[in-house]
Amino acid sequence: MDKPFLEIDGLAKRFPNPKGEDLTVFENVNFDIDRGEFICIIGHSGCGKSTILNVLAGLDEPTEGAVTMDGKEVSGPSLDRGIVFQNYSLLPWMSAIKNVAFGVKARNPKWSRAQVYDHAKTFLDMVGLRDGAEHRKPAQLSGGMRQRVSIARAFAIEPKLLLLDEPFGALDALTRGTIQDELIRIWQGTNQTVFMITHDVDEAILLADRILLMSNGPKAQVAESVFVDIERPRRRAEIIHDPAY
Ligand code: ADP
Ligand code: MG
Repeated sequence: MDKPFLEIDGLAKRFPNPKGEDLTVFENVNFDIDRGEFICIIGHSGCGKSTILNVLAGLDEPTEGAVTMDGKEVSGPSLDRGIVFQNYSLLPWMSAIKNVAFGVKARNPKWSRAQVYDHAKTFLDMVGLRDGAEHRKPAQLSGGMRQRVSIARAFAIEPKLLLLDEPFGALDALTRGTIQDELIRIWQGTNQTVFMITHDVDEAILLADRILLMSNGPKAQVAESVFVDIERPRRRAEIIHDPAY
């Protein structure tokens, strides 16, 4: 049997506090992710979803346990992992296309400027940022457009694992629906492995191959996290795209 692409093994995270009472966000968390899977993790606010994502990203260290990707233990951030945050996190002084090109160049240092920009443009096209909008700075883009840039940026570095932390949380329902479609289309074209946090069950059902439910049980905060796998049939079907938004 092949080893799973991503193994989360005995993961625990505790935050110390000044009174010496550690806050245990989760402990004994175990799950695997296969290459190419689209995983959604749902759970109530404060149950530790972002904390798990930050550990997978290498932005934070687990207190116990380990995350192994492709047989190597994750430690520290890496271009192997792309991240999309709820607040976009674009560099404000750079145009949309430069925001994307920046990571592409870092990932492919030997590429020419033309190669880097062509690649960035391809991904911006995929998320529907065209007609010169790619030359605008983040402040001149709507929230939806900013999140499109942020998604294009994460996919364009072609990471082994893409991590999305409530990427649509700040968007109105219509924009959310359109960008969800675009996310699915871009994912279908790339065979990317995606780990996405949402607190929206409908969104998880719409997007995910498999849903992990993170629950801290009756005692809020300190308790063992329970993961429930909801298996869905694999699908990379055509999704209708409305170019109006
Ligand atoms: P979620 O993303 O599911 O809403 P988080 O992972 O952000 O939840 O937070 C889980 C718990 O950990 C919360 O109680 C939060 O207050 C706590 N927490 C998160 N980050 C820190 C930190 N850096 N220091 C102390 N406590 C933290
Ligand atoms: Mg969160």
